[in-house]
Amino acid sequence: MSVYKYRCDKCGITWDEVSTKHQAELERDQHRREAHGGGAPDGDRIEGADPGSWPSASTLIVTLVAVVLLLAYSRR
Ligand SMILES: [Zn+2]
Repeated sequence: MSVYKYRCDKCGITWDEVSTKHQAELERDQHRREAHGGGAPDGDRIEGADPGSWPSASTLIVTLVAVVLLLAYSRR
């Protein structure tokens, strides 16, 4: 399950986690309207597990190999 959080750096606020990106976008749009006159403040973003930005399989394999090598070395 993925979670998303809207963060506004300018206001120093992170909103509660929501379960869909759409929900986070609604919070973002509402905050932009109420606090920033509809504009996009510096450093506002939606943090979370976007399936499109997950590490690729090759990244996971490289990480796994690195961990295995590290374990192998530490046993010497
Ligand atoms: Zn703000």
